[in-house]
Amino acid sequence: MSPPKPKGVAEAVPVIAPTSEEDEEIIKSVVAGTTPSYSLESKLGDCKRAAAVRREALQRLTGKSLAGLPLDGFDYDSILGQCCEMPVGYVQIPVGIAGPLLLDGREYSVPMATTEGCLVASTNRGCKAIYVSGGATSVLLRDGMTRAPVVRFATAKRAAELKFFLEDPRNFDTLAIVFNKSSRFGRFQGIKCALAGKNLYIRFSCSTGDAMGMNMVSKGVQNVLDFLQTDFPDMDVIGISGNFCSDKKPAAVNWIEGRGKSVVCEAIIKEEVVKKVLKTNVASLVELNMLKNLTGSAMAGALGGFNAHASNIVSAVYIATGQDPAQNVESSHCITMMEAVNDGKDLHISVSMPSIEVGTVGGGTQLASQSACLNLLGVKGASKESPGSNSRLLATIVAGSVLAGELSLMSALAAGQLVKSHMKYNRSSKDVTKVSS
Ligand code: NAP
Repeated sequence: MSPPKPKGVAEAVPVIAPTSEEDEEIIKSVVAGTTPSYSLESKLGDCKRAAAVRREALQRLTGKSLAGLPLDGFDYDSILGQCCEMPVGYVQIPVGIAGPLLLDGREYSVPMATTEGCLVASTNRGCKAIYVSGGATSVLLRDGMTRAPVVRFATAKRAAELKFFLEDPRNFDTLAIVFNKSSRFGRFQGIKCALAGKNLYIRFSCSTGDAMGMNMVSKGVQNVLDFLQTDFPDMDVIGISGNFCSDKKPAAVNWIEGRGKSVVCEAIIKEEVVKKVLKTNVASLVELNMLKNLTGSAMAGALGGFNAHASNIVSAVYIATGQDPAQNVESSHCITMMEAVNDGKDLHISVSMPSIEVGTVGGGTQLASQSACLNLLGVKGASKESPGSNSRLLATIVAGSVLAGELSLMSALAAGQLVKSHMKYNRSSKDVTKVSS
């Protein structure tokens, strides 16, 4: 019997793989620097072949093997000009299923792409506790993507004049007409400005249908900036994004004002469910939530991080469903509240998440595997009947899944089970330290 293969260690393969004569010439010219790697797709007119050639050139240039990173089994045409440049293969991430999540009277099987043992099992346990308690309820409070360019004037007085113009309700209709002309779905909602001396930060907000909407909002903003140059020719556009948006960075503006979809989700977990399924009690959970998620996070100076592990669930669902995983930063802003209700017997739990940025069209959502996961949730693609309803539903499912995740992890902590369960699910029975390298 052959010895077990160590995890994550690729099988040895020859660095130089067999290639056709024609490809061999192209590989050599990429290695020599005469053919740019980025030009292979257009030069060869075959995305799979371009990836294979680039991969081989890379292995020769670096002397490092890419064995273990698969090349076959992926549609490279589907990412061209949309999702990833200069591909050499793809990373495999397992997808687990948590659920059924009973949310607003419907059941969902939630796909989670993760390599963290315990995460799916724990979220699944939270789903079970919610299910047997009658389900969770969600409300979408707001739906609007934001983009905030920074513009500069010679004086703060001029910057203030533009602020008053943009925020004047009498100018709303004109701005909306200009903003909306580049999309059938991006609809202007309003502007909030902030001044730093003679620099003005203009936070535009718009609805984006079923798209997450970053490109959509950016196009609308560009229309308005072009339009403003007529009345404000002294306006100097420094950048279409001035970080007051704020995209992919923790920022109070998203926490307070919201970005993307703002959702609150709640459930009442019955006393016997807390005991039997979650193996703890209501008083311990309420106390832990107060001392950890509220006080502990306040002590840490948290910004939107008043939760146990919202980002765990958000990232896993985002990767599975083709969202932009970098937006996990603000999408994971969440405050988890717990309270004893019904004469102190049952648990009321809620998650409030002001900036869930999701879409069901655009970006990675159209790729085959991500699209399959969206299909499982019943939110694949654009909603024909009611544009925007698929992405809004996805946002509530994200919040419901976070609710399940919070419930289960907090229970594990309250019951002192965390280390034990992680040892069970994170560590295989094999002692990896004994596997020879
Ligand atoms: P997008 O793919 O650029 O736009 C969505 C497209 O789908 C539009 O052409 C839209 O039509 C069309 N569409 C059809 N049915 C729709 C429906 N029901 N609802 C909404 N749109 C519908 O998507 P996006 O969300 O605006 O941008 C997402 C991309 O932006 C991702 O690839 C992401 O990685 C990237 N991104 C960009 C930035 C940035 O700064 N620009 C930042 C982060 C991420 P219309 O043409 O009529 O609008």
